[in-house]
Amino acid sequence: MESNWVVLQFLYKGTEIGLGDCTITGISYNIYPMAGAERLNQHEDPIYPGGEYLEDGRLPLQKLYEAQEVFVKKGWKKELIYFQKETIEEKRICAPVFGYVSPYALAHPGEDSLWKKDGDHGEEPGGPNANAREAQYLSEMGLTIPMVVLSMLNPVGYYFDWRYFGEKRSWRSFTASSVGDCGHVVARVNNQGEMCKPELTRPANKYAGKLVEWMLVKSQCHPPSLFIDFHEDELKEALGIKAPSRESYIYVNGRNEEVCQTIGMDIIRILERCNFPLMLNGRTRFGENVINGIVRPESDGSTQALSVAQKYYDWKTNQWIDKPAAQVSIVIETPRDEAFPLEDRIAAYVEIIHNLPKYWQIVSGGNSHP
Ligand SMILES: [Zn+2]
Repeated sequence: MESNWVVLQFLYKGTEIGLGDCTITGISYNIYPMAGAERLNQHEDPIYPGGEYLEDGRLPLQKLYEAQEVFVKKGWKKELIYFQKETIEEKRICAPVFGYVSPYALAHPGEDSLWKKDGDHGEEPGGPNANAREAQYLSEMGLTIPMVVLSMLNPVGYYFDWRYFGEKRSWRSFTASSVGDCGHVVARVNNQGEMCKPELTRPANKYAGKLVEWMLVKSQCHPPSLFIDFHEDELKEALGIKAPSRESYIYVNGRNEEVCQTIGMDIIRILERCNFPLMLNGRTRFGENVINGIVRPESDGSTQALSVAQKYYDWKTNQWIDKPAAQVSIVIETPRDEAFPLEDRIAAYVEIIHNLPKYWQIVSGGNSHP
């Protein structure tokens, strides 16, 4: 039976599920594929039935999991957020998604933190690959900076180069949803510009529910003050447009306007230095206004919207509940296009990662921890 599964030899030893005051609820304990994984681990080679998308030079999924292990070695807490289990093209695949909390954050619960996130969309490998490449650097950062790292949130999508976990695209049907969909907890803005109850009364999908729950619980222990999310933008295939979007832009939001501007402009300069042309003025494919490479999004049901929201909606009690709001939240979009090989996109993301300590100093008012 197990042989029908694409079982990854990920290392889940050391994973902690729900400890102390940061208990995660709602975690599925249905881990029967793991029994197979344990047995398969005795084989020398990972068992892939073929079909893993590697054409753009991305690391295999297994290598991403292995790279993340450095966090555990450096004393980070590793938590299971959810298992993805899907049957796609008659292949069944299961893969875990982990969240990591840095040693400094663990020792200082309640302190404002730096959250770094990537991999919501499987066809955007830049973020997860940059994370793997800089795992050592990031893991050491977490010794002196309170950090939460969420990487490769959609491994099934990554494996197939699909945006979503069960579907490559939803441009026509609009049935698929992202693992990072927060549409059931963040406010929506109506036509009059008023903040209203969330668009969705329940999570957009089973993973989004668990991710949002995990993020809300962790926000209480380690409030995200600087939130940064690595995405990529592919236009050509999605819309059948001949001339692809070859311009970068970033989404910036947050309660500290000065910090938003300072860090936003710095990231824009990095993208320019890395030879990514900026969308100076125009519109994203979602119709949002871009000014000097920066989009100031409205509440759009994303994790960015959740990170900057001062309240989230609880459908069980039908009330808004206070939550910590980030000073600055940034989503970066580099173009996924043959003109910009994955290696170039990773290089830009690596440079941004190397600037995170500087951004953290800006956010925390220059008070770096010794
Ligand atoms: Zn994306």
